[in-house]
Amino acid sequence: MPANPTSTTPTNTIAPHRVPNFCAGPATMPTSVLEHAQSELLDWQGRGVSVMEVSHRSKEYMAITDKAEAKLRSLMDIPDNYKVLFLQGGASLQFSAIPLNLLNGGRGDYLTTGAWSGKAIKEAKRYEALGLGEINLVATGQDSNFADVPAISEWNISEGAAYFHYCANETIHGLQIFEPPQVDAPIIADMSSCILSQPIDVSKFGMIYAGAQKNIGPAGLVIIIVREDLLGKASEWCPMLLNYEHQADKESMSNTPATYSWYLAGLVFDWLEEQGGVAAIGKINQQKADLLYKTIDDSSFYNNPVATEYRSIMNVPFTLVDSSLDKVFLAESEEAGLLNLKGHRDVGGMRASIYNAVPLEWVQLLVDFMIAFEKKHG
Ligand SMILES: *Cc1c(COP(=O)(O)O)cnc(C)c1O
Repeated sequence: MPANPTSTTPTNTIAPHRVPNFCAGPATMPTSVLEHAQSELLDWQGRGVSVMEVSHRSKEYMAITDKAEAKLRSLMDIPDNYKVLFLQGGASLQFSAIPLNLLNGGRGDYLTTGAWSGKAIKEAKRYEALGLGEINLVATGQDSNFADVPAISEWNISEGAAYFHYCANETIHGLQIFEPPQVDAPIIADMSSCILSQPIDVSKFGMIYAGAQKNIGPAGLVIIIVREDLLGKASEWCPMLLNYEHQADKESMSNTPATYSWYLAGLVFDWLEEQGGVAAIGKINQQKADLLYKTIDDSSFYNNPVATEYRSIMNVPFTLVDSSLDKVFLAESEEAGLLNLKGHRDVGGMRASIYNAVPLEWVQLLVDFMIAFEKKHG
């Protein structure tokens, strides 16, 4: 593990034995959650076994999953007419599950605002080729290099679409759409990297899905929140494990679920409740993002290209005006104990992912480093 802190880095008091980690995913988890899991790893509830070693259908384990769902429902204020599923295959498998469950001979509208929504439509197109329905690109932000979203007046929206898909937070491009677009079709949002980061009105959505490894817990779990009237439309080609209605009937246990990831997600929900819930963490998230963007904007050394109204509060990409210094920035930041600031290979530069479990103090350490780096090399 890299030394932390070094002499030039301010003291990291929040969790002195933990290194500030800005990984985009799998991402930082709350220290207290990891400590809790560690404390009962070998002897869960005094049973002499770990939670990983018990039947997913046992009463004791089901108590964990029931509680995790109840907590998530309460944190997000999920209405009763929505099912909550805890499945496997990550967010990416949902790119297939969505057309297989919902296309139903109709049209699927897709908005492309970056890498992830681009992958979603690409995958959906395969089902169009199979004759399951039509896939329609409503608009793309490609012309702006995904730094902006085309105006809704220019969108090619289908009449009576089966659904409208978009990505609420483009993790790679750092572009976030804070309110669901005003379209008539049931809205499906990929919230992998922004779920639980600020309050949203679930009733505006037909379905929300999120891979867990950004803002919830470890990899291996994808959460699906789907309105009940969207169930029962699946193609006969839809694998049972991807069939929302089937999985809802089976309480996400059609086969063995990712039991340890589910358990850890439940602990993260407990932690989030202790932080005051989504509204409280949302305020801190805004402070973290404001601090970072202000540092970028106040300098002529750093740059973030995203249109102000779409700047992500979870993933902040930035470039150095002199990109020949990128390598030096990454090497020196790591030396200073600030980990995983390399931008995605598709966009280059740097990226700080500042999910719920990243404390404001870590962002302050990063900003202090950035200012010192600019002084030294600017
Ligand atoms: C990470 C991510 C994905 C892919 O998640 P996997 O769990 O790796 O399939 C999809 N969409 C968004 C917005 C992401 O951030």
